[in-house]
Amino acid sequence: MNFSNEYLNLGEVYSRPSLPAQVKSPKLLLWNEILASQLGFRFKPDQAAQYFSGNEVITGSKPIAMAYSGHQFGQFNPHLGDGRAHLLGEVIDNKNQIQEIQLKGSGQTPFSRNGDGKCGIKPAVREYIMSEAMHALGVPTTRCLAVVATGEDIYRQTSTPGAVLTRVATSHLRVGTFEYFAARGMHDKVKALVELTINRHYPEIDENNDIKYIQLISHVIDKQIDLIINWMRVGFIHGVMNTDNTLLSGYTIDYGPCAMLGVYDPETVFSSIDRQGRYAYGNQPWIAQWNMARFAETLIPLIADGGDEAIKLVAPLIEEYSDKFKQAFSLMLAQKLGFKKNSTEVADISHVLLDTLLKKQLDYTETFNLLTESLQSGTKFQSFENEALSNWHNDWLKRLRSEGQTQKEANRIMRKNNPLVIPRNHHIEIILDDVEQNLTTDAIDEFLQVLKSPYSKTPKIAKFQDTNPNSDLNYQTFCGT
Ligand code: AMP
Ligand code: MG
Repeated sequence: MNFSNEYLNLGEVYSRPSLPAQVKSPKLLLWNEILASQLGFRFKPDQAAQYFSGNEVITGSKPIAMAYSGHQFGQFNPHLGDGRAHLLGEVIDNKNQIQEIQLKGSGQTPFSRNGDGKCGIKPAVREYIMSEAMHALGVPTTRCLAVVATGEDIYRQTSTPGAVLTRVATSHLRVGTFEYFAARGMHDKVKALVELTINRHYPEIDENNDIKYIQLISHVIDKQIDLIINWMRVGFIHGVMNTDNTLLSGYTIDYGPCAMLGVYDPETVFSSIDRQGRYAYGNQPWIAQWNMARFAETLIPLIADGGDEAIKLVAPLIEEYSDKFKQAFSLMLAQKLGFKKNSTEVADISHVLLDTLLKKQLDYTETFNLLTESLQSGTKFQSFENEALSNWHNDWLKRLRSEGQTQKEANRIMRKNNPLVIPRNHHIEIILDDVEQNLTTDAIDEFLQVLKSPYSKTPKIAKFQDTNPNSDLNYQTFCGT
């Protein structure tokens, strides 16, 4: 296996050498066979347990903890960094793409502050299931290679089995990484990060051209819009959209307090510490815009005069975000309703539907799936008895006809955009409680199998399609646990 250490070689200020902690009796709990073969990893389970618990360092790996800052709930914190993660290095996958391999929950680092550097089994398995589900839903995301139970208990509110998660990402370059150096006035270090980001994620940008900074901001914004549109499409609520949890690659990272939207309500929040609803489902687009402004600020000193002139060049990119997002959002909704393109009339129909879902407290995923199926059967849509939606349904069919869409074509578009199944909160919780108590994975395997094909009717799907609005009502998720 060929490990490279590109991030380490960027320079010593970007990270600190740090070895993962030794653990008592590592047991490989989850192993992502498909991802492993894409990475060229072939290990026996015992060997994998040693490597991906951090007990043994893989040949060629030089583990480091990465430095970063971040705006957390709007407040700048200059001192973050990997407090419980170790970057082992990078490998090239079978698509010739660089992939960073990182252990999470692998012990203290120079950035741990007062933390124990550990991770409980529940958050580790949550990240594994959620990220694999998101990947299958077609949402850009970091992946999980493994969860290893450490055989040691850790202490949160009570004691719980510890675990180490292996995360795979095209990079761990965060907005917070840029903020770390910009806040310290180390603008040449920001410059080197720009180079790495362009090489790794945006090779279409000409590095030798002065407008590369503006282009980078613009490209990163476009990727971010695409990401948030996908979150909104499948009803994903990230829960902690701090700038240290925002990747330049535009991939989802950090599955701490995330959850799925059940009953449609833009104000839905599940994270226990998000008392103001800053990271509510419907706020996500505008928080991402705010995060992009924080990113752009880190590049201002490198642009033009580094002052007013630079701001004049950058500000329009942030302002344009709103219109770009609204357009992309309308198109996404149009596609969820089977239209090829958006129009004022289509946007009206879509928004009336969302208003009705809100008023009638209907489930987001279930409704769009039933609408999709109503076209599949070719019969009149009958699933909702309430007056509001059956009238709406007639208007919708009329609009499809006047846009020249056949029922078959509309159904095809809808099937690609509306999942039959998502990792619903109550199922996640049942499965996490089970793994915490029994350290077995049968329930997880069955769930993952269904989540692997969210747009198809697989044999065991019905078991996981049920909604549970009552359980969602009091549902709470937690950060950094
Ligand atoms: P997160 O909420 O996972 O995005 O983490 C925010 C920051 O807290 C990051 O710098 C983490 O490395 C750090 N952190 C979270 N949990 C722990 C822990 N148990 N020990 C040390 N650092 C932690
Ligand atoms: Mg984080």
